Amino acid sequence: MSKAGTDATHTGPASAGVFAKGALAQPLDSLTGVGPALSEKLSRLALERVADLLFHLPLRYQDRTRVTPIGTLKSGMEAVVEGEVTACDVVAGRRRSLLVRLRDGSGILSLRFFHFSPAQQQQFQRGFTLRCFGEARAGATGLEIYHPEYRLIGQGAAPVEDHLTPIYPTTEGLNQARLRALIAQALKQLEEAPQDLPDLIPEVLRTRFRLPGVIECLRFLHEPPPDAPIDQMSDGVHPSQRRLAQEELLAHQLSLRQVRARIQKDGAPPLTATGGLSARFLAQLPFSLTGAQRRVLDEVRRDLAREIPMLRLVQGDVGSGKTVVAAMAALIAIGGGCQAALMAPTEILAEQHYRNFREWLEPLGIEVAWLAGKLKGKARLDAKAAIADGRARMVVGTHALFQADVTFQRLGLAIVDEQHRFGVHQRLALREKGEAGGLTPHQLIMTATPIPRTLAMSAYADLDLSVIDELPPGRTPVQTVAVADPRRPQVIERIRAACAEGRQAYWVCTLIEESEVMTCQAAEVTRDELTTALSELSIGLIHGRMKAAEKAEVMAQFKDGVLDLLVATTVIEVGVDVPNASLMVIDNPERLGLSQLHQLRGRVGRGSTESFCVLLYHPPLSQNSKQRLAVMRETTDGFKIAEKDLELRGPGEVLGTRQTGLANMKIADLERDSDLIAITTTLADALLNEAPQAAEPLIRRWLGEAAGQYGAV
Ligand code: ADP
Ligand code: MG
Repeated sequence: MSKAGTDATHTGPASAGVFAKGALAQPLDSLTGVGPALSEKLSRLALERVADLLFHLPLRYQDRTRVTPIGTLKSGMEAVVEGEVTACDVVAGRRRSLLVRLRDGSGILSLRFFHFSPAQQQQFQRGFTLRCFGEARAGATGLEIYHPEYRLIGQGAAPVEDHLTPIYPTTEGLNQARLRALIAQALKQLEEAPQDLPDLIPEVLRTRFRLPGVIECLRFLHEPPPDAPIDQMSDGVHPSQRRLAQEELLAHQLSLRQVRARIQKDGAPPLTATGGLSARFLAQLPFSLTGAQRRVLDEVRRDLAREIPMLRLVQGDVGSGKTVVAAMAALIAIGGGCQAALMAPTEILAEQHYRNFREWLEPLGIEVAWLAGKLKGKARLDAKAAIADGRARMVVGTHALFQADVTFQRLGLAIVDEQHRFGVHQRLALREKGEAGGLTPHQLIMTATPIPRTLAMSAYADLDLSVIDELPPGRTPVQTVAVADPRRPQVIERIRAACAEGRQAYWVCTLIEESEVMTCQAAEVTRDELTTALSELSIGLIHGRMKAAEKAEVMAQFKDGVLDLLVATTVIEVGVDVPNASLMVIDNPERLGLSQLHQLRGRVGRGSTESFCVLLYHPPLSQNSKQRLAVMRETTDGFKIAEKDLELRGPGEVLGTRQTGLANMKIADLERDSDLIAITTTLADALLNEAPQAAEPLIRRWLGEAAGQYGAV
């Protein structure tokens, strides 16, 4: 149930006990029996202070509070049973074992030992009474318990446990009994001085949101009464667990909002008029904006007019037309006397934006500069000079744009494309690119990862959210088919036919075992194979190990129609736009996640002709792969795909840890606790309004003392 269980080696800086006082605030070696060796083990579990033990929650529970009649045991049940020994024999079988037969009034059970000593064998005398604990399973003799914990008991036996038995996440060399004894010491100190563990959620909010007190929850979870709902607790959905998960979600959200507040503390240049630039831009576009683009643009416009920095995330499925929205925003900044910068995660994508922006903005008399890591020598110096003296009003590039040696004359708007490749800390770093006068640039962040709104609100609590929920008209949805590799020759014929009609195609080679070298080699082999098979076509190759200039050259040739077929690794995943390409073959699609497949497929279906995506898989497929390919065949809706992806892979994978830190939660689980996420936003609003001083302690409890640098988490 607890996240900590799957992460027993967690060594994050967070110390949940950070706001404890008195004995609970002491380091762990203040407890009886804790020396340096044990302290070291405990710190592997991120346990530093006595109070941290209280927040170290059980993974699951065992019920040793009652004796279960043997007759009511079922396979899979863990239980305490008591019975009289009726037989004890060493039996041969596939493995030799000691078999002890037990009987109570209600039924018969066997205990089986594969490892046993003669002394042990002697213990099991007929007529003796045994109490044992273990998991019953169906065995050769009916229900059996393998290697139970057991002891011989006399008449009027010792009592059973008075609480459910917690099983904690632990680390090598630290057993449950030892950990339990330490936690018992911490609970005793809590008993003696409950005021030493203040509840960090103010009482008025606890009452309003019906949250039980933190002490009550912790006590309950460490020492649940015999009648506690063990299944509910093992699933992590007991009210006591939910209260703590809620607190953790709240802390994460508050932390993101703190990032936002910090950025918005500085002023931003209010940007309103565009001096006719946007009208001229729109007039030269060969299409008109969709309703969704216009709506999002209005939201952006309102933000830009204000004197606090815009922090807006624009979500839009692949092909929904985010780039035009970015260009319009840039024109508002430029019209207002500022510079605008657009940063993209890869050079290919940045290069493509550069071409677009030049094509769009140069006719309006706006100079567009280009800057990427690979740009060297005089070209680099020239670009930097144009950015510094303000000649370049628009700057496009990779993250090289925001390196220390790049100075802007007056940066008013920073646009980040495909934000899921960037971290929160880069967002913070942007502030520094504002001008010296304490102005922070407005920020527009664009992503094609459509995540469900509630999750987005939690993961991006530092950003306002706009959604482009409409594709430009005239697109025909991409038809997707899954084809097994033995039919490869037919797929190749299909490419021949498409290119004969003047269309273009992609052949995408997926990542081989995380090895870029092997993947690139495989792409080369595929290119050779296809060149032989399709000798009349002009075929290009693009992969991650090529020089930036080479890649740009190949991309340009493909875009200009010089190449019919482009063999590529997944470097083309993000944002590449060649409307005439209408066929994509994805080789080994089973290696990719759903969102990545969706991104790739979004490279076709950009023009008005019917487009196809062929998923060329290699049988046999795992159950999960089958499901993924089925989803791809059934829908092209990015939101549906994202939801399915979330279901199949979980939010940590989908969102990426770098980006949010949300995947590092100790107790909360974004899927299981998804209903809490919506409440978290309301709760955070209330807390910031009514008890803002409570935010800092909560953040530090759950995100660690260094939570100020949220992005580093
Ligand atoms: P993405 O949201 O994936 O970044 P792009 O901005 O690359 O999408 O746009 C995809 C394609 O759609 C481009 O060729 C672009 O010119 C075109 N496009 C954008 N907006 C419209 C529109 N309103 N009508 C028609 N085509 C559009
Ligand atoms: Mg794009």
